[in-house]
Amino acid sequence: MMRMEKSLLMIPGPTPIPPQVAAAMTQPMLNHRGEAFSALFAEVSTKLQKVFRTAQPVYIFPGAGSGGWEAALVNTLNPGDAVLSVSIGDFGERWHKVAVQLGFAVERLRFEPGRAADPERIAERLAQDRERRIKAVLIQHNETSTGVTNDVRAIARAVREHGALLMVDSVSGLGALPLEMDEWGLDVVLTGAQKALMCPPGLSIIAFSERARAAAEKSAMPKFYWDLKAAHSSLQKWQTPYTPAISLLHALKAALELLETETLEGSWARHRLMGEMCRAGVKAMGLRLLAVDERTASNSVTAVVAPVDPKRLRKVAREQFGVELAGGQGDLADQIFRIGHLGYVVPGDVLQALAATEMALAQLGVDVQIGRAVAAAQEVWMNHVRG
Ligand code: PLP
Repeated sequence: MMRMEKSLLMIPGPTPIPPQVAAAMTQPMLNHRGEAFSALFAEVSTKLQKVFRTAQPVYIFPGAGSGGWEAALVNTLNPGDAVLSVSIGDFGERWHKVAVQLGFAVERLRFEPGRAADPERIAERLAQDRERRIKAVLIQHNETSTGVTNDVRAIARAVREHGALLMVDSVSGLGALPLEMDEWGLDVVLTGAQKALMCPPGLSIIAFSERARAAAEKSAMPKFYWDLKAAHSSLQKWQTPYTPAISLLHALKAALELLETETLEGSWARHRLMGEMCRAGVKAMGLRLLAVDERTASNSVTAVVAPVDPKRLRKVAREQFGVELAGGQGDLADQIFRIGHLGYVVPGDVLQALAATEMALAQLGVDVQIGRAVAAAQEVWMNHVRG
C-alpha cells in the first residue's frame, strides 16, 4: 500500500484551512483586555456581520457549533416554553434533544431523510396554534447529515405570519449557501468556524435579531457561559466576558479577508458549481443521491446512497487513493457516504474526490467505468467557464 503524506480532506467539516489562516494562528499572544485585541475583535465582528447579512451584532464564543444551539434557546425563551423543532436529519434530531434536555415543551415536525422541510406543513402547523403558544421554530439551513438544504426564506415567511422566533442552524451553510438574515427576517442564526468559514474548529458564532434580543431581556432561563447579555455588554468595549480564543480569532480574520476578496456572492457561486459538478459525477457513476428532489440537494455536501459497504469504500478511497470521504450518521451509517465540498475547496478537488470514489468502487467490484464521473464533472465546469 502507498503511504501518502498528502491527502485530500473532503468531509463536511472540519474542512481544510488556507495557508494564510494557518499562518495567522502563529502570531504572538496578546492581552485580551488591551487595545490590540479590541481592534482584532472589532474587525472580525464587523466582517462577520457582512457574512450573516445583518446589521445586528454578531457574538463569538469559544466553543463547538453545538453550543450555538444551547445559546439560541437559553437566551430567548422561558422555562417550559413550547418549541416547534423541524428535523430533516441527524442535526435536526440533535438540536431537538438539546431543547428537550433544557425542559422546553418540544414538538417535533420530522421529514424523512433526503427530503427538505415543507414550508406549507410548517405554516399549517403554526396556523393551528391560535393561542400562539409556540414561541420558537428551530430549523437547519443545511442538513449536513443528509446533504439537503431547506428553503429558509419560505419557512421564514410562514413563521413570520405566526410570530414565533425563527432560529436557524447554518453551521454548514453560512458562507457557502445564500442566507440573508435581516432581509429574510431570521431571529437567530448560528454557525461554527470549521466549515465554510475555513477555520479550525473552536468558535461558536451567533447573531440575534432585534426581536430575539428583546426576548432575551425577558428570558428567565438559567445561563452563564452562553449569556447574551454578558456578551453584549462586553462587546460594547470590543471584548468578551471571559478569555477569548485569540489564535482562532486571528485565523478567522485571515479567512474573512479571503472571503472578502472572493466576495460572498463569489463563494456562493463556487459552492453551487462544486455541488453541480459533484452531483453530475455521482450520477454518471450510476449512483443515487440521497436528496429526493435534486433541487434541494446541498451545494456544500453531497450524500450518496452507497452501492457497497460505505465503510469499506471510504477505507479504500482513503488508503489507496488519498481522499478522505465522510460516512453517514445515525441510521444512515450503513447506507450512505458523503462528499464534503465546502470552505477552502476548489472545483479541482471535486474532480479528485470523484476520481478516488470511482476507483475505490472499481476496486470493490462495482461496475463503474473509470473516468466517467470526472468527465461529467468536467463538462459542468467547462460550461460554467464558458458561461
Ligand atoms: N449543525 C450542523 C448542521 C452541523 O453540520 C454540525 C456539525 O457538523 C453541528 C450543528 C454541530 O457542530 P459542532 O460539531 O461544531 O458542535
